Order: sequence, then C-alpha cells, then structure tokens
Amino acid sequence: MPGPRPPALPEPLALNRASIDRAGIERTAPGTLEAALADPATRVLLVDGARVAILREPDGDGVGAPRLALVGPAARRGEGETFYLGRDDAGAYVAWSCDLDEALPDAPTVSPAGPPGTRDRAPGGVTIASLRDVGHLLDDRDTGLATAAVALSQWRRTHRHCPRCGARTRLVEGGWAARCDVDGHVVYPRTDPAVIMAVHDGTGRILLARSVAWPERRRSVLAGFVEAGEAPEAAVRREVAEEVGLEIGRVAYAGAQPWPFPASLMLGFHAWVAGPPGDERVVDRADVPDPAPDGIEITHADWFTREELAAELADGSVRLPMRTSIALALVESWYGRELPAG
Ligand SMILES: [Zn+2]
Repeated sequence: MPGPRPPALPEPLALNRASIDRAGIERTAPGTLEAALADPATRVLLVDGARVAILREPDGDGVGAPRLALVGPAARRGEGETFYLGRDDAGAYVAWSCDLDEALPDAPTVSPAGPPGTRDRAPGGVTIASLRDVGHLLDDRDTGLATAAVALSQWRRTHRHCPRCGARTRLVEGGWAARCDVDGHVVYPRTDPAVIMAVHDGTGRILLARSVAWPERRRSVLAGFVEAGEAPEAAVRREVAEEVGLEIGRVAYAGAQPWPFPASLMLGFHAWVAGPPGDERVVDRADVPDPAPDGIEITHADWFTREELAAELADGSVRLPMRTSIALALVESWYGRELPAG
C-alpha cells in the first residue's frame, strides 16, 4: 500500500536561494582572492559568525527591506579573514569575517523579523542582524552570499588548528580550506547532517514538541543529528523513539537546506507512526499511541489537528519557529497554508 502522498515543501526553501556563481574552480587558483581584493569593484560582505551587516534605507512610508551592507575591499577594518564567495556580472564577492562590534561600533544589532509590525519601526542605516532573522527577507543573491559567508565564518571560528599535529592552519583555496604549515594537512569546512521530521499520526494530526532549550510556548517538529555511520532514515526512527517513544513506519524525504548555526545541513522528512496503514481516511484515532517526552531533551509533545493548532496560535499559547527554518516549512506543508512565524 503506497500510503499518503507527502506534503510538498515550498521551492526553494528560504536559505537555499542564491544567484551568484560560486566559481569553485576559479577560487582554488593562486591569486584569485588577492586579485578580487585589489579590484575596487569587488563587493565585500561583513560577517561575524551568524551575524551579518545589513542596510535598510528609507522606502516611502517606512524603512525598506534589508539587504547586505556591501562595501569595497578598502573599507575592511580591524582583524579578520577573507573568503572568496564567487562572482556575477557585476564582479566578485568576498566575505570579511571580523568582529562586527569593532568594525561597526555605531551599528545596532536588531531583529527585523520580530513580531508583526516591527519591520517598519526597525532602525534604518547599517545594522547588524542574525541570518536566522533576516535570511528570508534578503533577496536571492544576498541570501546565498550570507548563507555561505556565515557557514565559513562559523567554521573558521572554531577550527583554527591542524587535527593531526595541533599547529595553526592558514586559509587556502580562497578561504574554502585550511592548510597546516607543518605537515601540509588540509581541512575543509565542516557540515553536520541533521534530520528534522514532521511526524504524522495517519489521522491528519502532526506531532509538535518543545525542546528543553526553547522558550516556554515554542512548539516545533522533532530534530536530531545523524550519528556516525548512520543513514538519515534510521536517524529519523531513532530520534523519534528516543525523544517521544513512538515507533515510526514509513519515512519520506521532503527536502533540505543549510542551517549554518553553526554547521548543520537540515535533512527534512515526513514520518508516520507505525501501526495502522497510513491512510488518513481510514485510521482510527483511538489506535494512535500517545507521545512520551523523554523529559531530558523534550519537555512537551502532543498531537495537533489543524483546528487545534490554529486555535492555540490564535490565543498565543503556542508559537512556531522562525520563518527561515525548514521546521516552519514542514509544519506549513502539513497545514496547507502559511502560518505565523515565531
Ligand atoms: Zn599539522
């Protein structure tokens, strides 16, 4: 029996958007990054871990949508490292990973994607914001640039020494690798696969849970890292069993996006609890097992109908994840339309 067709995710997901050529072969050639930095037409993105410098300019009634605050190569200030991000018809793009609070001492850190209505009240000019908060508000070019820059900045921040001998490494290949000067060992930016899954009960309900680290009212789908030597589908089953004690039957891949906070690749799935055949129209809700939160990672886990979720969102007792996340996309794909982001 084929089971229900998995709901489709929006295409593309927020952080999968990009428009520039990463120029992966070009960037490995000696001198490519140096030539870009010597060219005043090169645009430089300022990044500091998960945070980027953004610009908001007056736009009629209020302040326009954020875009990256790109500067020329000569405007780099303070200590930092450079990464070659690629090029388009306008020229090359480089990330300058630095201490943004030092580089832009007058720029406030803001969350322009906060509660409804804050967008127009957010300050104009150059500000500092997390890619988590602005990823969906930037255009395709800027989202792609910022996502790569944040991934590289986050990697380099915690990977500065050779894993073989402990000596300091220096960036090569335009910043996309780091080489040990002692033994020549080369390391590359790390990406950690994680699974994130909408668990369905087969009667039209979805499982929403609260992780111990989240705000009190936040509810989302379950997620966890893929372990060493483990297939993603096996990780889905293991994580659901560990966190809420449910046995999973069918698993269907939904889509993926980078989540560089600091280094995840989120592999999204739909999963159905094992037991009665997974056809929404014939399963008896009385047969569906109750989730049992582990109390360690997960404090709450409940089945929601669409009507129950709508009511709890409306009265404020539940808040969903942020708009940039694949988690919200999974919940919305089940619900059937856009929902308020947390
Ligand atoms: Zn070494």
